[in-house]
Amino acid sequence: MDFFVTIEPMNNRIDKLAELFESFPGIGRRQARRFVYFLLHKDRGYINELVTGIQNVKAEIDQCHECFRFFPKTGNSVCPTCIEAANSNQIMIVEKDADFENLHKTHIYMGKYFILGGFINSNEKKRSFARVDQLLQRIESDTKAGKLSEVIFGLSVSPEAEHTRIRLYTMLHDKFPKLIFSTLGRGLSTGTELEYSDMETLKHAFNSRLTQE
Ligand SMILES: [Zn+2]
Repeated sequence: MDFFVTIEPMNNRIDKLAELFESFPGIGRRQARRFVYFLLHKDRGYINELVTGIQNVKAEIDQCHECFRFFPKTGNSVCPTCIEAANSNQIMIVEKDADFENLHKTHIYMGKYFILGGFINSNEKKRSFARVDQLLQRIESDTKAGKLSEVIFGLSVSPEAEHTRIRLYTMLHDKFPKLIFSTLGRGLSTGTELEYSDMETLKHAFNSRLTQE
C-alpha cells in the first residue's frame, strides 16, 4: 500500500506539468512529457532562471491594444509603433511578432500593423489562434475614423497563409467594399517565411504588391 502512496503524487506532478506544456501551440502529448523529463535533468540554477525569466516577461512586457504585438511596458496601452503610425491610412496584417520586427526594422513600410497571432486553420475542427474578431474591430474603428484606405496582407507564402488571406479578404471585402486590398508581391517565392527574408526581398515584395479586385 505504501508503494502507491509514495509513487502516485509524483506521477501526478509530472502529468500536471506535461498538461501545461501540452497547451503550447504545436506541442503534443509526447513532446510535452519530453519537456518535463528534460527539466528534471536540469540543475536548480537553470530552473530558477527559467521561472524568473517567465515571471519577468509577464511583469515587464505588455500587449498593444491596437496591433496586439508584445512590447516593453511604457505605461501606455498602445505601443510606440502604433502611436507613430496613428495618421497612416494603411494597415499591414502580419502573422506574428517576429514578422513585424523583420519588416519594421527595414523602414520600407511605416504604416500601421496588425499581428494576427496565427493562421486560420483549413481544418475547421482544429483550434485557430488567429485574432479574426479583433481584426474586424480594428478595421471597423479605423474606417469609421476615416483613417484607413488600404489593407496589406503581409503574410508568408504557404498553403495555410494563402487560405488565411483568402478567408480574411472575402470577409473584409464584403464588410468594407471601399477599402483597397493588396498583398506582398512576387519577390516572395513559395515557402518563404517573412521572419527570415532579407531587406531587398522585402522591399521588392512591398513595392510590387498586387491589388486585389
Ligand atoms: Zn501597437
